[in-house]
Amino acid sequence: MLNKRLQRLNALAAAKPALTEVCRFYTALYQLFADADPFLQAEVDLAAAGPRQQQGFPLISSEMLRFDAAAAEKFFAQLLQILHQHGQQGQTELKLLQDAFEAGKLELCPLLSAVFERDREPISSTATAVGIQPALLEYVLATALGAGLQRCVEQGLKSEIQHWDHGYCPVCGGLPAIAELSGEEGKKKLQCGQCGNSWGFHRMTCTHCGNTEHDSLGYFTTEGEPGYRVDICRKCSGYLKVVDSREKGADLPLEIEDVATLHLDLLAAREGFSRGKKETLDA
Ligand SMILES: [Zn+2]
Ligand SMILES: [Zn+2]
Repeated sequence: MLNKRLQRLNALAAAKPALTEVCRFYTALYQLFADADPFLQAEVDLAAAGPRQQQGFPLISSEMLRFDAAAAEKFFAQLLQILHQHGQQGQTELKLLQDAFEAGKLELCPLLSAVFERDREPISSTATAVGIQPALLEYVLATALGAGLQRCVEQGLKSEIQHWDHGYCPVCGGLPAIAELSGEEGKKKLQCGQCGNSWGFHRMTCTHCGNTEHDSLGYFTTEGEPGYRVDICRKCSGYLKVVDSREKGADLPLEIEDVATLHLDLLAAREGFSRGKKETLDA
């Protein structure tokens, strides 16, 4: 997994020199993801999981998360270090966050759970106390949580049911970061931006709102970039980037394709589309 990611990042930096710094950052980040001690496990009651998922609940809920606090803190310190080394903006705020963390002022594991639950209150109050923007704290926490969840998925955590009709992840409830079309029929597979799990999805359905009306669904492409497109929904103004592996090659690490297509996110945003908000299910 790591080698594939690093190879693709190298190729990307060579093809697009403007992304060299971004690629260096992700290289350090994925190296850390691979090297760090595991700090998160999901304790899933497998007997209850299938029926719960049938009702549309993801496999894991926040009360199943088990953190190794010491390993999580070590990971978080290294993550802050990488952001410090590779970040160009927000260094002053990052320093404040590092200082607060080192002074023991961050309740890391409860905050990671809050990110999982999309409970913004503890994140904004902590950010205010530290003197930084909540968005920065949320980004760093979400990156750490994602690393922990990705490790769980890499080690075999998977959905208990085959058929999953929703636009959010059957394992962790996260939103897809990117999709892939593959096989002769161009089957669509979504990849979770949080845990990296992937699942099959209807090709002509909006992942954000479930819209299936062809009139309000569409996509755009950019010149000179075969194999990439952005699916859009005019009903909810959501979008999703899509990689056609029939053109780009199979077995690509999609999380790196997400990095390779950051300009498509900017284009989509400029046109008024967003990655969307998950419709939350109340357990
Ligand atoms: Zn997920
Ligand atoms: Zn939609």
